[in-house]
Amino acid sequence: MSGVYNFCAGPAMLPTPVMAKAQKELVNWQGLGVSVMELSHRSKPFIEVANKAEQDLRDLLNVPDNYNVLFCHGGGRGQFSAVPLNLLPKGKSADYVVTGSWSKSAVAEASNYGDINVIDANVDIEGKKSVLPPKEWHLDPEAAYVHYCPNETVDGIEMFEIPETNGVPLVADMSSTILSHEIDVSKFGVIYAGAQKNIGPSGLTLVIIRDDLLGHARKTTPAILDYTLTAEKDSMFNTPPTYAWYLAGLVFQWLKTIGGVPEVEKINQQKADALYQFIDQSNFYTNHIQDEFRSRMNVPFWLKDESLNQAFLAQAEASGLLALAGHRSVGGMRASIYNAMPLEGVNALITFMKRFEQENS
Ligand code: PMP
Repeated sequence: MSGVYNFCAGPAMLPTPVMAKAQKELVNWQGLGVSVMELSHRSKPFIEVANKAEQDLRDLLNVPDNYNVLFCHGGGRGQFSAVPLNLLPKGKSADYVVTGSWSKSAVAEASNYGDINVIDANVDIEGKKSVLPPKEWHLDPEAAYVHYCPNETVDGIEMFEIPETNGVPLVADMSSTILSHEIDVSKFGVIYAGAQKNIGPSGLTLVIIRDDLLGHARKTTPAILDYTLTAEKDSMFNTPPTYAWYLAGLVFQWLKTIGGVPEVEKINQQKADALYQFIDQSNFYTNHIQDEFRSRMNVPFWLKDESLNQAFLAQAEASGLLALAGHRSVGGMRASIYNAMPLEGVNALITFMKRFEQENS
């Protein structure tokens, strides 16, 4: 790792042992004399890789047997289309809860396919950003599904409470929070996540979908986005992103060796606590999210004197702390501290922030 910590929101850093293993077996995988990325997706050795990755993910998240795990293309945005195409029949509507910029983008895409009921759950409480409690969302009991984004990557807003939808399927965009803390999969109809944060490299998208939600795709659904077809073909209707699938498998194995999701959740809590505590005690940095909705994965913060932003970023980079600029739509800074970011990385960031504060106040 050479003392460099990458705080990019995605594609994000991957665990160093995973990268080292991938490098070691890059050109000669398991003595076959070829790379795993050169194998047919239908070959026996690749199918073993694929099945093992799926099983490890199932173990890590305790995925019940009546759920399918799909390895798809198209990223989170592909799912913004796939969800309504597969779950929103003509004549019905879907509830979309907006808590930040990604859930808003999901609304924009879904609106191309049907009637979308938008629930604006963003609220300001004494100048801090917060989320309206689910019991005040006024969900439609007749909705085809409820869509929400538990962790808003850009805004740094995370909802830990799983909303009660009284039988209406709950669809969650978990792109930036999957595998970071324990979840009860059985509470969801569909969970989806682009891989490039907590799963592996970009190019792969995971979908976890309950059996009874298959078989409802519109006739016009592109085959590549059709959940039922994807499930029937074991995610191999077309050529899947095989190398990303393999790497995701290595990430799942790594997670298992460090103690699985409960263990990584503890470390994620420690990392987030350390960073927020430092920001809160400082008069130089600030974060505007109400405590209980602060993301453990994406920590946005602002310098009170924004004229120092460029100097902060340049000096951070020179100190080996990369990609700390906030999303272009919100400015400021953002430290993305997914599973692969060790506590040492967060401590290095805090040490740098302290020094920068002392030198500039
Ligand atoms: N949803 C969330 C929560 C995200 O963070 C992102 C990407 N940062 C997306 C959707 C879009 O993902 P993609 O770029 O893979 O389409």
